[in-house]
Amino acid sequence: MNAATSLTFDHLPHPGIVPVSERQALLVDPGFGRVFTDHMVTIRYSEAKGWHDAQVQARAPLQMDPAAAVLHYAQEIFEGLKAYRLEDGGAALFRADANARRFRASAERLAMAPLPEDLFVESCRALVRADRAWIPEAEGGALYLRPFMIASEVFLGVKPSSEYLYMVIGSSVGAYFKGGAPAVTLWVSQDYTRAAPGGTGAAKCGGNYAASLVAQAEAIRQGCDQVLFVDAAEHRWIEELGGMNIFFVFDDGSIATPPLTGTILPGITRDSLTVLARDMGLTVREERYALDQFAADAASGRIREAFACGTAAVVTPIGRVRGEGFDFTIGNGGPGTVSSQLKAALVSIQRGHAADPHGWVERLF
Ligand SMILES: *Cc1c(COP(=O)(O)O)cnc(C)c1O
Repeated sequence: MNAATSLTFDHLPHPGIVPVSERQALLVDPGFGRVFTDHMVTIRYSEAKGWHDAQVQARAPLQMDPAAAVLHYAQEIFEGLKAYRLEDGGAALFRADANARRFRASAERLAMAPLPEDLFVESCRALVRADRAWIPEAEGGALYLRPFMIASEVFLGVKPSSEYLYMVIGSSVGAYFKGGAPAVTLWVSQDYTRAAPGGTGAAKCGGNYAASLVAQAEAIRQGCDQVLFVDAAEHRWIEELGGMNIFFVFDDGSIATPPLTGTILPGITRDSLTVLARDMGLTVREERYALDQFAADAASGRIREAFACGTAAVVTPIGRVRGEGFDFTIGNGGPGTVSSQLKAALVSIQRGHAADPHGWVERLF
């Protein structure tokens, strides 16, 4: 057994958790990514000691040397997953093992020390247990976990860091969209791409997001909600949104999503919906789909629905797609029935309302 997987977490004393009344007020309408819990998990890595010093401690600002490698060369990766409140007051994690595997793959791509997968899952469990009071009870609410890792070696030379800091923080979140997701309008960027073959598109690293912001700003300027990225080589094949994968629903009852060629982030929601769609008897294809075909199929009615998916918003219907010189509507421009059914199937497993035939849900308490 890898010695690191047997690390035990030291629980440091907390100087003062948020008072109950204040916490309850924050949980009424937490939004997304603004309300943080009382604790954080930290684990350190050095070449000499391996993974060590696993701690659950009071959430607090970090002290960092200004020459820490992450601040200069962006050696950073992250994950995002949710802990859900169950009806009896317990709580559960959803497919944390899949996030652990992806985190390890991201670490390898960014030449970072891979965190043992057991330790990743255990760190998530430790934070949820410490911050159980922060899991919202409201419909659609969850405790969003943000595990991440930064290069902490103090050195300006360009090389993989010899030291890392891994952390997990938690954020109480409400329903991403209250009263169900409205359909969004996508902007197809001609000038910017998200990922190129051989690049970091399949890794969940902060740098990918930094590079996507100018395209997202362009989408907003054009009056759209999100960017839809096409491939870097031909500007023709649909890849994904800035932080969500994409699915297409056809009139013959099949659905399709772009294949994982190395430039697309392998979403766990994407994978889960693929499995659930097959359970529902739908044919699922992972195949390349060209933007001009998408426009033609939307016009002919061959495409009935399209939706984006990811942990934060689960399923987001796509109503309209625009770019330089084109503008088309999908279906009736609103949420579609297949998208809604898939979303409902996934959410009911996550919240413990439906059976869990694939063993995705881990009850913590
Ligand atoms: C995180 C992410 C997704 C969605 O992944 P999930 O595991 O479903 O949350 C999709 N695309 C990008 C670029 C991402 O960073």
